[in-house]
Amino acid sequence: MSKTKIIATIGPSSQDKDILRELIKNGMDVARLNLSHASHDFCTDIINKINELNEELNTSVAIMFDTHGPNVRIGKIDGKANLTKGNKIEIHSDEIVGNDQRFSINYPGLINDVKYGNILKVDDGKIELKVIDKELNYIICEVLNDGVISSNKSLNAPSIKLNIPFLSAKDKEDIIFASKMNVDFLALSFVSASDDILDINDLLIELENDHMGIIAKIENENALDEIDEIIKISDGVMVARGDLGVEVPIERVPGIQKKIINKCHAFGKISIVATEMISSMEKSVRPTRAEVSDIANAVLDGTDAVMLSGETTIGNYPVETLSTMDKIISSAEEDINYLDFLSRAMQSETQDITGFISYSVSECASRLKCKTIVIPTLSGYTARKVSHFRPYCPVLALSPDPQVIKSLSLHFGVSGYVIPELKSFDEIIEKSKILAERKFNLGPGDSIIITGGYPLKKVKHTNFMKIEEL
Ligand code: PGA
Repeated sequence: MSKTKIIATIGPSSQDKDILRELIKNGMDVARLNLSHASHDFCTDIINKINELNEELNTSVAIMFDTHGPNVRIGKIDGKANLTKGNKIEIHSDEIVGNDQRFSINYPGLINDVKYGNILKVDDGKIELKVIDKELNYIICEVLNDGVISSNKSLNAPSIKLNIPFLSAKDKEDIIFASKMNVDFLALSFVSASDDILDINDLLIELENDHMGIIAKIENENALDEIDEIIKISDGVMVARGDLGVEVPIERVPGIQKKIINKCHAFGKISIVATEMISSMEKSVRPTRAEVSDIANAVLDGTDAVMLSGETTIGNYPVETLSTMDKIISSAEEDINYLDFLSRAMQSETQDITGFISYSVSECASRLKCKTIVIPTLSGYTARKVSHFRPYCPVLALSPDPQVIKSLSLHFGVSGYVIPELKSFDEIIEKSKILAERKFNLGPGDSIIITGGYPLKKVKHTNFMKIEEL
């Protein structure tokens, strides 16, 4: 079982319960639903199936909703429209049915926001348009390369400050629905500033939801300008390489990815690398060498999680893709320099009792070659701290609260069991030994470390570590 977490997006290829079961058995930690495509009925169906499978398989696969976000899309096109290099095309603020000469967009304000000479990118950057003239209700662009467009394709306006509000009526409705369905993580598309996250926090307070983890998707230059503030107030960030590679020059994406992973590790926050990680497996049973390298490098850089999108939504081999990814991750994890991550984490970690105990636990586990670290927890706090130090062995969190176990499903190395509340210190030690043995097939002579706070409380008070030989 790999320590780096796998998020799989669910779509037509994976919605069947038998496929979902196989995805879980092959290492899916979080099921993602993309609200740009998935209806509420589809989401309800998948959430019900995952809940049933968690019961059946004794797992804690979490659910992530990914919002549509404030992104611009082109309107309805009559079939397909051919755009030819050198021709002119009009972009209208009023709703019209598009063709080879004109189309509309879902954000009328674009007409005011753009300036002469601005470049617009259609359909994930496949076609570029240059603004050459402006009229009251439309702009005129020159087509810079040939291409075909159809309804609802994306339109990016790199480095143009759009006055589009962050929280649309649709996103608000989707977040209210997410809260009702007890969704574990909310990935926010097109975050541009830390204020965007604060708006969502306010909405969650209004909804009395204190458990949904917030993941900021980093996909434009504005977010990069405020990256430290965004990381600090989110639970984690996603390097959303699809849109990022359209909004900034694509050759900058690998460097940005590495910087974001490093910053997240320094701040003790979750990092996720997403998009086109193994996309050749949508059509083939084997990945390319470059894809294997890409996944392994993300792991070696210290990402907490990697994500599958088209591979599991529309690909022909969702289960094979997941098991291939899991194998690549496990192999790369053998080459992680765990002690380097440990000392880097100590430099940024708060120098308090939990910090020092978590550091000691992780160092002992690595140096004594312990087989697992067991953490009985009511809030997940100690488990999150220990994960920050990247111990060599897996971490097993035990909690009576299923929501706490699911909240840990994006943290590197942490897996968990829901168990009845442990009443005494002796019971903590005994149960930890039994469950670690069962989960990781341990035997006589194997050592484990048990850590946490006793007596068990919701507040943060890690106060013990105990090394046990089985
Ligand atoms: P998307 O986000 O799947 O919503 O497009 C990921 C990305 O842009 O990389």
